[in-house]
Amino acid sequence: MTLLLYMSVAVLSAGLATRAWLEDRGDGGRRAFLGLGWSIAVAYGAFALSLLPSLGFFRVLYMLAGLFIPGFALWSLDRVLRPEAPASPMVARLMFTSSIVAPATTLAHVLFFYDVPRSSPAEAAAGLYGFCALGLSLHTIWKVRSRMALRVDQARLTYLLGTVALAVCLTLLEHLARNLADPVDTANLTMANRGVVLQGALPPLSVLFTALSVYFIDQSLVMLRLLDLQELFSRVATLVASAAVLVVVYGLTATWTGAGPAYPFHSTFQIFLASLFFLAAYDPLRGQIAWWSNRLLNQRGQKLTDALDQLRRDLPTAISTRGLTETLLARLHASGRVPSCSVYLWDRGLDAFALAGRRGSADQRPLTAIASQALPEHFRSGATHISRHTLARRARFDEVASELVGLLDAMDAELVVPFLSKGLLLGWVALKDEEWSDGFSGEEVVRLRETAELATVALTNIQGFQQLEEAHRLAALGSMAAGMAHEIRNPLAGIKGAAEYLQTEDLDGEAQEMLQVVVDEADRLNIVVSQFLDYARPLELHLEQDHVNALVTHIHALLRAQGIPEGVSVEEDLAPDLPPLPIDRARLSQVLLNLVRNAIQAMPSGGVLELKTARRLNRGGMPCLEIAVNDTGEGIDSEDLAKLFIPFFTTKSDGTGLGLPICQRIVQAHGGELDVLSVVGRGSSFLVRLPLPAKEPTQEISRDEIEIEAVSA
Ligand code: ADP
Repeated sequence: MTLLLYMSVAVLSAGLATRAWLEDRGDGGRRAFLGLGWSIAVAYGAFALSLLPSLGFFRVLYMLAGLFIPGFALWSLDRVLRPEAPASPMVARLMFTSSIVAPATTLAHVLFFYDVPRSSPAEAAAGLYGFCALGLSLHTIWKVRSRMALRVDQARLTYLLGTVALAVCLTLLEHLARNLADPVDTANLTMANRGVVLQGALPPLSVLFTALSVYFIDQSLVMLRLLDLQELFSRVATLVASAAVLVVVYGLTATWTGAGPAYPFHSTFQIFLASLFFLAAYDPLRGQIAWWSNRLLNQRGQKLTDALDQLRRDLPTAISTRGLTETLLARLHASGRVPSCSVYLWDRGLDAFALAGRRGSADQRPLTAIASQALPEHFRSGATHISRHTLARRARFDEVASELVGLLDAMDAELVVPFLSKGLLLGWVALKDEEWSDGFSGEEVVRLRETAELATVALTNIQGFQQLEEAHRLAALGSMAAGMAHEIRNPLAGIKGAAEYLQTEDLDGEAQEMLQVVVDEADRLNIVVSQFLDYARPLELHLEQDHVNALVTHIHALLRAQGIPEGVSVEEDLAPDLPPLPIDRARLSQVLLNLVRNAIQAMPSGGVLELKTARRLNRGGMPCLEIAVNDTGEGIDSEDLAKLFIPFFTTKSDGTGLGLPICQRIVQAHGGELDVLSVVGRGSSFLVRLPLPAKEPTQEISRDEIEIEAVSA
């Protein structure tokens, strides 16, 4: 083992140095490193061979090559640190003295002291010179450190010098332990213990640090900057600590079984070394082993893993919600692990989660929209996924669980993984499992959740991008609208003025009627242009703390003053103790008046208009103040519901279709949301939700006034 270790570091040094040199033969640093790598390789190689029976004479080569290491080390480090500057004069001096001391001491040893049983005076002199020279090299480099401009470079160099210094000190200690001990009688040594005994009392720890130093210098040369040694150090430290733990475990086991080794230091070191190699190789190998065993024993699971890996690359590049849904479903289904899957996404217009896409065979047609609050509430309570398997047991005695199981059945799914963004449910992916399988494994669920998290990020990015696009479009539309309004309004005023002038003339009844049409239509066009301007222009709010209840009462009074149509009764239901909020009173009045006007128009044969205020939770589960404008009118069908906030959508002959889009803009500018709930034939409810400070007490949203329609196919 000792011999092998020396040999492998020799091969490593020579290999790294030769490769670096071959890549760029003209580079001075790489030439110096070639010298260093080979002098270490020859020295270690010779030492390893000298451990073998009848090859003791290789010690001479070890001595000769070892004495050139300090010079080459200084030269290499000097080139790494100051590639532009001329080589330090100390390099030439060291190389010169080494080229005299090395042959001189070697020759003296061979001629006069070859048979000396322990370290000869010539070897001692060579050792003294070698270690002094190494010390001098380190000192020279240390001086360069203080001149370095970057603190980070200084820190990195400290780590590099620390490693080299440790290699030098450990080598020195091992030498001393070897040479100060009694001479060894090699005749009694077996092949198994020969290396260990000849190495001396201390295990060859220095070899590891030499290998590390060579690797660091090589990387610094190849990457043209000092390596981030701190990071490498922490990795090495983790490995060493883990190996040390394993050593303790082995040690305890050996003590327990009473099988104490003959050379405890060396055995401990060898176990440590083996653990180190095992741990270093284990990490990269682990993935490969898992991949192969999965391939052999769990082909379907592996296909799902491959599909999810592919999705990890695909999802971030999706640029539309549709594209993202399609990619997700196609990959999951193609994996063969999921017979069918579907994606549901929040649909503002429907006020429900709508089926955005589906793949695979289905025993039944799944729900196309889900308005139930059970799923969002379940995820809001911290659940990371819903598995039918685990819920089914609870469903017998737990109402919520039974509702969830019902929903899963309606979606034809075994597992639901949500797209949750900061507690807000954007949608989910529902997966069916194989008939014969006993559910998705824990690991599969974890990987599916990771993929869903990625899809959530992609979804929010797409939505953010679409909003940005919309903002740009509106800004362009705004400036166009201002110009267009000017172009229309001036001639319009002229047309209306001319028609009104002609009305004063003595014209017959039909002509008067026609002129009245001109005046009315000019007025209507003027309203459309003004409203369009209002919608397209950037919105500026003048916020002041005000009581919403007072505003609602004011609107009610205004209605009474204008005259409430016959058959319509107006009711107020205002929550007491509502805090004042920062609102733009004029803009919010505009919103409420528009909603109230729409509500009255929706009740041509009379009904009840209710103005209600309450504390609620908004879609994101945050406390809010809700102003509801409820009517018992004709209601809105789901097709129209989806278009309500699209500019110019109207079902009225004299409508502009801009009222609700403007209301939505104003409410959103207050940081709030405008929601609609409606049932055809029963009435509609327009809900203005304004954010409340978070510390306000809240109560659960109750939707008792209006039930939401769950649209099912
Ligand atoms: P306009 O009132 O000019 O048509 P809006 O944007 O205010 O424009 O409204 C758009 C459409 O929404 C209306 O044409 C109507 O069909 C529908 N709508 C709005 N409020 C109600 C309501 N309370 N009940 C039924 N339908 C409504």
